[in-house]
Amino acid sequence: MGRVIAVANQKGGVGKTTTAINLAASLAAAEVNTLLIDCDPQSNATSGLGLVKDPDRINTYHLLMAAANPDDAVQPTGVDQLWIVPAHKNLIGANIELVEAEGREFRLRDAISTLRERFQFIVLDCPPALDLLTLNALVAADAVLIPMQAEYFALEGISELLDTVERIRSGLNPSLEIEGVVLTMFDERTNLAQQVTAELKRFFGPKLCATTIPRNIRLAEAPSHGKPALVYDIRSKGAESYIRLAKEIIARSLPVAEEAAPAEVAVAEEPGRTEMVGQEEEKPAEELDKSA
Ligand code: ATP
Ligand code: MG
Repeated sequence: MGRVIAVANQKGGVGKTTTAINLAASLAAAEVNTLLIDCDPQSNATSGLGLVKDPDRINTYHLLMAAANPDDAVQPTGVDQLWIVPAHKNLIGANIELVEAEGREFRLRDAISTLRERFQFIVLDCPPALDLLTLNALVAADAVLIPMQAEYFALEGISELLDTVERIRSGLNPSLEIEGVVLTMFDERTNLAQQVTAELKRFFGPKLCATTIPRNIRLAEAPSHGKPALVYDIRSKGAESYIRLAKEIIARSLPVAEEAAPAEVAVAEEPGRTEMVGQEEEKPAEELDKSA
């Protein structure tokens, strides 16, 4: 079953689409089948991956309206192992048409249930609003990845999103997790960036991604060529940072046993040994001697 990650922040221009495109491309480059679903009527993820505007093509609108077979909405991209469900500006209509619809928050979740078997990761690029489109994404998702810039009042800026996540957890999608918070357009040389990082680290702990995304011109240029940064300029700092972010997210999604060294896993297979393997590693040398 694939892991569904919604890239969301109701604030505009924080790097959601740049993160969705480049994370999805980097996951695909790590040889895991990945699907990017463009949930934003602006359709920036669609054009950023080189798909031309086409109102007749099946897109996210049709998924939400249950008006197409989900498999028919999936399009190939120029990147191996990366597919996309494109968006079109007609998606704006879904926000209005769905208001009265039955199960309006569950439309995307239901539409992608069969697609989850085909892809190891499904990345959802959300619009800059806490509207019905973002709500559908958060209900369909296993986890939300929050891109944000290191600014004063950073936490205030996302409190509304965190409240929404809490509300969804207590009703529509109890298993929704926070995948992480990733700092975008980051300049580590400034005092401000250091202070904001320290504040976010205190608040989010390990949920603050270790990888930060620097401000990098290649990331801004790549979409106008219809390519993710790792195809446009693999050696750019931007491409490298998203490859690191993908590795971090793959590592987080692995079961704990798979993260351990292969030798330890082999020992842990013996019944009753599982905890001991971990404990022995922590013990000081003299204690190990006593117990030997
Ligand atoms: P919206 O809220 O409108 O959907 P968004 O949150 O998806 O916006 P992006 O479109 O990814 O944000 O980024 C906003 C602008 O900043 C774009 O022009 C993009 O190219 C640029 N940008 C994003 N990340 C970076 C970066 N790390 N370095 C340089 N430019 C960046
Ligand atoms: Mg966007």
